[in-house]
Amino acid sequence: MDQELFSLSGRTVLITGASSGIGAHLARVASRAGARVVLAARRVERLQQLATDIEWDGGTALAVSLDVTCRASVEAAFDAAEEAFGTIDVVLNNAGIGNGQRALEVSEEDWRQMLSTNLDGVWRVAQCAAQRMVRAGKPGNIVNIASMLGLRVGTGYSHYCAAKAGVVQLTRSLALELARQRIRVNAIAPGYFKTEMNDTYFDSDKGQAYIRTAVPMQRLGQLTQLEGPFLLLASEAGSYMTGEVIAVDGGQLVSSL
Ligand code: NDP
Repeated sequence: MDQELFSLSGRTVLITGASSGIGAHLARVASRAGARVVLAARRVERLQQLATDIEWDGGTALAVSLDVTCRASVEAAFDAAEEAFGTIDVVLNNAGIGNGQRALEVSEEDWRQMLSTNLDGVWRVAQCAAQRMVRAGKPGNIVNIASMLGLRVGTGYSHYCAAKAGVVQLTRSLALELARQRIRVNAIAPGYFKTEMNDTYFDSDKGQAYIRTAVPMQRLGQLTQLEGPFLLLASEAGSYMTGEVIAVDGGQLVSSL
């Protein structure tokens, strides 16, 4: 196997939600694979710390403020990234929220906040990135972070499941429309990975018991287990893949009904 196939050398990768969890981890992975990385989220001080760490390791990183719910903020983040590094080659569209709530208790405000971040935000960032790639006449690559809950459902997550199912169909629709412009659009659908979004629950006895019963592999995912799928989709190794949704879920999509 030619390891160069998975290289991101010479590419600029913008990662939304890079201030913690999956985004922060995959930002380091992209950097180690040779990319210049643009770290984007609302908590800029965290991004700056991560940028410093990446540069200590020999990488090139820029921290930019980004709120995916606001078009002006998204455009400003891309402007700052382009000023530093030119057109973005790869976007990891990862920012999201994940608070659980019973369907009967979701308020209008809760619903809007979930959809605004987890679906509208993914659309807004993808569209902004693609418009700029097309204007620059350059190929590009968008990797959306969906969820296993965009393909199945779970109690207490009606708003989250609806948003993530939207991300799955958005991924396929954008892949179809952007293929001729040489822009690939794929998604990763993670199962359960312990991050700030869910660590209190997965550290509890209840959370651990849930993992043993609900996940066929009976364990949480490790962030390192997302590296291969991410690099496959983001690099030349996946150059004939578009509109694909790769589940990384310990077998949850094939769990017994
Ligand atoms: P974290 O809570 O650790 O990270 C979420 C990230 O999203 C943070 O960096 C946060 O940054 C950012 N974010 C949230 N809202 C906004 C916003 N309005 N604008 C910009 N950035 C925002 O959780 P994870 O790393 O687990 O989540 C990352 C993605 O993975 C999410 O889309 C989530 O739905 C998905 N996922 C996670 C799973 C898991 O088990 N962990 C399973 C399946 C999918 P900041 O607050 O600084 O803006």
